[in-house]
Amino acid sequence: MRRPLVAGNWKMNTTLASACELAAAIAQAVPAGDDSVEVMVAPPYPYLTAVGEALAGSGVVLAAQDAYHESPGAFTGEVAVEMLLDVGCRSVILGHSERRHVLGETDAVINQKITVALSKGLDVVFCVGELLEEREAGNTEAVLDTQLDGGLAGVSEADMSLIVVAYEPVWAIGTGKVATPDQAESAHAHLRSRLAARYNAEVGDCVRILYGGSVKAENAAELLGQPNIDGALVGGASLKAEAFLPIVEAAKACVG
Ligand code: PEP
Repeated sequence: MRRPLVAGNWKMNTTLASACELAAAIAQAVPAGDDSVEVMVAPPYPYLTAVGEALAGSGVVLAAQDAYHESPGAFTGEVAVEMLLDVGCRSVILGHSERRHVLGETDAVINQKITVALSKGLDVVFCVGELLEEREAGNTEAVLDTQLDGGLAGVSEADMSLIVVAYEPVWAIGTGKVATPDQAESAHAHLRSRLAARYNAEVGDCVRILYGGSVKAENAAELLGQPNIDGALVGGASLKAEAFLPIVEAAKACVG
């Protein structure tokens, strides 16, 4: 049984005050020891420490939105995995479509980051997803295969227990255009079979695959009710507790 995960990616949003307020509201609703659904938030780097303090004693996992693959040193503007661990992060989002398509990250760069994060003890939420033109050209599965294989090159079967895959069709991110449950389920089932083929049936069965792309309270239950969808990576709707927490509730209802 895969434990659902609902993760909030705050992107380059919030202020110090609003981040702490949001974290406190989520923390209050997610007590430590509630094992039904895992809840994670990824605030901007400057607010990680303060948000970590606001989450203290709760069941909410602190995550970063990115990390650099080098050890601490002369890399102006970058943030090392060691620093993220130092401020209490347990996980990091890597390969997000905005990093791929706005900031030019390649599969090779994402693979370096994944490899280093895992080797230093940070779990990874690894994002993959096709552009609209790739879907319209019938290339969705080929794009997912390339991203999955590129990002996971050299990652061992044992380390796959530290990875969550997030399927985020780029055309659905921040656009309000959500994938239909059938579209999402078909991509998730494909990713799961690809993982089984790359590794083995157990990895295929055990790795959690999240859906991301305009998830909100209104569509969460139907998406999360699909057999191969194990939770959600949420952008816009993670910025207000009253929008985010109903998604957590929808995930709880699915485990029932
Ligand atoms: C995201 O950025 O990971 C995301 C899914 O954003 P949104 O929910 O706003 O589409």
